[in-house]
Amino acid sequence: MSCSRHQHGPVEAFRTGRYPVGISTHAYCYHVGRTLIDTGPPNQWRRVRSFVQEMADTRGVDRVVVTHHHEDHAGNAGRIAEMLDVPVFAPEASLDLLRDGFDMEMYRRIVWGSPGPIEAQPVPEHLSIGDGLILHAIPTPGHADDMVCYRVEGKGWLFSADLYITQRPEYLRYDEHVGALLRSIHRVLQYDITTVFCSHRGIVDEGAHALREKARYLEALCGVARRRYRQDKRPVNDIREEMLGKDGLLRWISGGDFSKDNLISSCIRDQDRIEAERHLEPLQRAA
Ligand SMILES: [Zn+2]
Repeated sequence: MSCSRHQHGPVEAFRTGRYPVGISTHAYCYHVGRTLIDTGPPNQWRRVRSFVQEMADTRGVDRVVVTHHHEDHAGNAGRIAEMLDVPVFAPEASLDLLRDGFDMEMYRRIVWGSPGPIEAQPVPEHLSIGDGLILHAIPTPGHADDMVCYRVEGKGWLFSADLYITQRPEYLRYDEHVGALLRSIHRVLQYDITTVFCSHRGIVDEGAHALREKARYLEALCGVARRRYRQDKRPVNDIREEMLGKDGLLRWISGGDFSKDNLISSCIRDQDRIEAERHLEPLQRAA
């Protein structure tokens, strides 16, 4: 069990953590302006509550903003809303999932805990978050369909949810898509970004560089994986073995939801799509 506090200028970061099993079970909540961004997993509520109380007493908390519906991000939003009587803002596509709940695999319930129903309102494209700061939502599907990242105008800050996490991912969840993830990374890189506030890695200085490196790594992986599959006619598990090695603990813990094969398969599918689009005739403009 480990909690810790970090700071970047006026941004406060609070890290909660659980089982030290070699995978990242740390989750970060952030406080900026008079706003909390993401709320940590439900089973860490006791620790999150004291951070939230301290922020409310010292800096002020007028609202909660979440990046997507996953329990390690939105898990305590309902409790905080009740405790402080403040609104919760979430992406439009998250609202039903937050209110009605969603299926969760056993390992997620153990690692993070199960959230209760959360009433949230749609986050506007631009949201004032206190201290003169404006939050801009950028849709970033790939990890989850409803995920958005938030950038703070004029500061170069990006609250990146689960877009970054690591420069060289070796696993993918069965419901994640490498192609969409890459497009989302390139979308946020259009903006001037210096610091990335990652939900699992924490504060990443030179955040744009880190995101660019991740994109470069995934693009290279996609290119090679497809070549091996289409031209060399090698099976997916063979390509995985060559490029990423054997599956480790994460596959076992997640009951197969996370695997290296998922990553290779998603890379091949995405490259197929790019190849197919390359050979399409350009759309004709109506005369
Ligand atoms: Zn997530």
